[in-house]
Amino acid sequence: MSESSAAVAGSVAERFEQLYGFAPEGVWAAPGRVNLIGEHTDYNDGFVMPFALPHTAVAAVSRRDDGVLRLHSADVSAPVAELTVDALAPGADKRWTAYPAGVVWALREAGHTVTGADIHLASSVPAGAGLSSSAALEVVVALALNDLYGLGLRGWQLARLCQRAENVYVGAPVGIMDQTASACCESGHALFLDTRDLSQRQIPFDLAAEGMRLLVVDTRVKHSHSEGEYGRRREGCEKGAALLGVDALRDVPYDGLDAALARLGDEDEVRRLVRHVVTEDQRVERVVSLLEAGDTRAIGPLLVEGHTSLRDDFRVSCPELDLVVDTAVAAGALGARMTGGGFGGSAIVLAEETDVPAVTKAVEEAFTAAGHKSPRVFEAVPAAGARRLR
Ligand code: ADP
Ligand code: MG
Repeated sequence: MSESSAAVAGSVAERFEQLYGFAPEGVWAAPGRVNLIGEHTDYNDGFVMPFALPHTAVAAVSRRDDGVLRLHSADVSAPVAELTVDALAPGADKRWTAYPAGVVWALREAGHTVTGADIHLASSVPAGAGLSSSAALEVVVALALNDLYGLGLRGWQLARLCQRAENVYVGAPVGIMDQTASACCESGHALFLDTRDLSQRQIPFDLAAEGMRLLVVDTRVKHSHSEGEYGRRREGCEKGAALLGVDALRDVPYDGLDAALARLGDEDEVRRLVRHVVTEDQRVERVVSLLEAGDTRAIGPLLVEGHTSLRDDFRVSCPELDLVVDTAVAAGALGARMTGGGFGGSAIVLAEETDVPAVTKAVEEAFTAAGHKSPRVFEAVPAAGARRLR
């Protein structure tokens, strides 16, 4: 454990003790993520390739045997929330507490014994920036309860339960990528994940050793229509799969794409969605091949291709994200793309180490010139997935 995560664990445990009057049984951490490639494929049974950020949600947790669930976040100015596990019901809670409470609900609904908990958490994952602060919150709570109650669940099983918590309890129709990334990523690796069966392969991804860097540019905008648009894209993908007679768009082979598009006739919107998903799955496989062949720089153009597809076919980009990508590439970056659901949030930029200052400056200046809020730029190093800290 790094010195800083020991320090964070200590301060979260200390705050727990101040709140509840006794020391926690343990402290756990779960990271946010960025997705290297494979966007809007995870609800089409396709491929994704996220890696974990060093930013984590950290939770100090103790069991209770009286059916009470107490929740507190250092990042929300609200007193301790006190809930009853028996009374947890989907859809009612519109506050942040729905994420951890939803995890308790999902575990219990799946038949696991969880008789209550005291939880205090703090997170360094920026919320609403497309970096999966919500999954970090869910996974850290799920892992803590898994350990404390001896449930014996594996990372991918915890991810499925967390997704169910977010889909049903919180009411957000998200795919499985974020929770699996937070639960299963490994330091120094990207996670090649098949979202159909959750089979996975850890792909070494150590850019620093090759003289490159990956920057995250958080645009600090979130366009308000994003949720409705996400739902429409999902419905369009389901319609495409139904029209093509397949279970999911993942089943449309890349070399059968033209024929599939021809079959969709004048369904223009569905055609665009299908083209994005099928080509994006293929891009993930190409990125995996290139990384495994040690040809890391060659993934740059595929990132840009992915962005173009998200902008023009899937139509989930926005002016701020396009500006990051266009400016970074013009300033010499190897590649760039939006990451996460879109309509704001973050973009990633792959660049030679020596080009990082010029690329960063160019993006910041372009944002100023366009009158946008100044973006937050930081370097992302593939970090560890969810783990117990103490
Ligand atoms: P993202 O997952 O991309 O960051 P979401 O909208 O899915 O964005 O999740 C953000 C929500 O997660 C916040 O609105 C809040 O309810 C919850 N959340 C995230 N981090 C924290 C935190 N540290 N404390 C309390 N709630 C949090
Ligand atoms: Mg989220």
